[in-house]
Amino acid sequence: MNLSEIKQLLAEGNLKLTKSLGQNFLHDGNQLDRIVELGKLTASDCVLEIGPGLGPLTERLLPNCGQLLAIEKDGRLVEILENRFSSEATLSLIHADALKWLSQNPDRDWRSWKLVANLPYSVASPILVELALSAQGPEAMVATLQLEVVQRIRARPKSKEYGVLTLLIQLHYQPGPYFKVPASCFYPQPDVASGCLRLVRRQAGLLRQEEVALFVRLVKVGFGQRRKVMLKLLKSVCPLEVLEAVYARAGLDSRVRAEAVSLEEFVELTRGIAAAKRRMVDGRDF
Ligand code: SAM
Repeated sequence: MNLSEIKQLLAEGNLKLTKSLGQNFLHDGNQLDRIVELGKLTASDCVLEIGPGLGPLTERLLPNCGQLLAIEKDGRLVEILENRFSSEATLSLIHADALKWLSQNPDRDWRSWKLVANLPYSVASPILVELALSAQGPEAMVATLQLEVVQRIRARPKSKEYGVLTLLIQLHYQPGPYFKVPASCFYPQPDVASGCLRLVRRQAGLLRQEEVALFVRLVKVGFGQRRKVMLKLLKSVCPLEVLEAVYARAGLDSRVRAEAVSLEEFVELTRGIAAAKRRMVDGRDF
């Protein structure tokens, strides 16, 4: 599907694009091929595509996987997709807001699935976090995103990009390679730079599933005021004496700020606080 085919489909349907839905369609065949390649698909793979748009990626995914589930919010595009792909038995198309749909199906088992998508930028981070934190998330996620979001996901501690998004994604996923996608490859061209990133689910979870909510809370509270000492902020989550003991065991300086605390250290903090909670046998809790 090239640029003139995209323009023709839009003209035939008299479609005005909706900016708030991030409708920037990818028309460059080389970039589309590179996205599919990064998916490392096999003929039996189940693939989730969020935001198929007019289907330029969909048409490349279909011959490379066993089953494709595509979720599109814009009903006008769903109609076009239904017509374009009416003979494709391996495609299931859902007309829904993917973020709502995912949060309404939190227990779905995605372990044998891969996400491959050019995500709508306005909801890309919450969609990735929703999938990344789910107990049975996809084995890999290949997503075209705003380049700034790619950099935040891959960030190292003590960098300005390092933060809540980095940690919520990296808890279960290791960032792999990425490549930049020039704005000229989209129609219409987005105002921001883009990149396509591969994330692979960790084989062994760093935390027990029942500890994940506490990890998320510590990260969000810890980064609530980035320039503040984290210990002071975490007092709202857990008594100071517990925090001090857990910090000491994790080898953390009491003056450290969240931006200098690594994933492994957040994991240690979570484990320590979760263990302290479990020891609270006298009915006291925090
Ligand atoms: N995959 C197509 C491509 O590469 O040309 C379209 C990508 S475009 C960046 C994002 C698509 O996501 C649009 O088709 C838009 O309508 C759709 N979209 C926006 N918000 C959505 C949501 N919450 N759930 C599902 N689809 C959404």
